Amino acid sequence: MLSQQILGPVYLVDSPYHGSQGVLGTYVVKGGEPMLIDPGPTTQVPGALEGLRELGIRQLRYVGLTHIHLDHGGGAWKMIEAHPEADVYAHPKAVEHLVDPSRLAASAKQFFGPAFDKYGEVRGLNPMKIQESRNGEVLDLQGATLKVLWTPGHASHGQSFWEPDYRIIILGDCGGSYSRRSGNIFPITPPPFNPDRAIETLDRLIALRPEIVCYGHFGFSYDAVKKLGFYKGELETWAETVEKGVREGLDLSGVWEMLKEQDPILRLSLDEDDSRRRTAIPNIIGLVEYTKWKLKEEAAKSAGSQ
Ligand SMILES: [Zn+2]
Repeated sequence: MLSQQILGPVYLVDSPYHGSQGVLGTYVVKGGEPMLIDPGPTTQVPGALEGLRELGIRQLRYVGLTHIHLDHGGGAWKMIEAHPEADVYAHPKAVEHLVDPSRLAASAKQFFGPAFDKYGEVRGLNPMKIQESRNGEVLDLQGATLKVLWTPGHASHGQSFWEPDYRIIILGDCGGSYSRRSGNIFPITPPPFNPDRAIETLDRLIALRPEIVCYGHFGFSYDAVKKLGFYKGELETWAETVEKGVREGLDLSGVWEMLKEQDPILRLSLDEDDSRRRTAIPNIIGLVEYTKWKLKEEAAKSAGSQ
C-alpha cells in the first residue's frame, strides 16, 4: 500500500521516487469531489495514481499545489493528463510558471545539477485547466472542507490547506524538512527565500492551533503547534547567524560553517541525512541573498535620512 489514512478525510500517498520512498508526500483529501495535493515530480505521478486507485478514487475535482517547485508540482501536467476532469488549483503568482515552466526548470537545473533529470519531463499546462486560489477561500469537497491560506516565505506563491474538522494543516515546504525518525526539522531556504515572510507565515499557522501538521518532506506529526514553533526558532537562529556572517563579510561556505557552529540542532540533522549535506550551500543561498538585500536597503535608507 502506498496510501495511508492520517485522520478523517486526509490521506498520505508515499509514491516511490526512483525506488526510494519517503521523499515527497502527496496528500489526498477525500470527499465526493476529492483533492490531490502535490503530485510530486513527473516521475512520482504513477505512484500517486496508484495511491488514488487504492483509495477507490476514480474522479478528482482538484490537483492542489502547495507551491510549484518541481519536486511538488512538476508532475501536475501528467496528473491532469490522467485526470482531465480535474483542475489545477494554484496561487495566482504561480499560474504563468505553470503555463510556461521554462524559467522554473532553468532555476531547478541550476540548483539540482544532474539530479534535475530525475524529475522527468516538465510540460506546460493549458491555462483553462488552472483555477487561481484566493486567500481564505473555503473549498467544499462534498463531505470534506478545505480552507486555503496563502503562506509566503519559502515561496512567494506558497499556499497551505487547512482541514478544520480534524485540525490538519498541509503545508508543503513552509514548515521545513521533517525527519520522521528523529522529529528534527531542517530549514529549506533556497532562493528566492524571504525569512521575514516565512516567520510571519509560521505565526499565522501556529495561531490556528492545528493538531496535525503534514509536511512535503516527509510525513506528518501530531504535535503540530510544537513543531511549527520549533521550526520558527530554527529560522530565527539561521536568520540571525546569517546576518552576522554577512556583516562580517563571510562567503557562502564561511556562513555555512558559522551556522553549524551556532546551531547544535543543525549538526544533528546533518548526521541524519546525507542529502542535507550535499545541498547545504545551494540551500542557504536564498537566505544569504535576502540578508544582503535587506542590509543594503537599510544602509540606503539611513544614508538618505542623514
Ligand atoms: Zn519547495
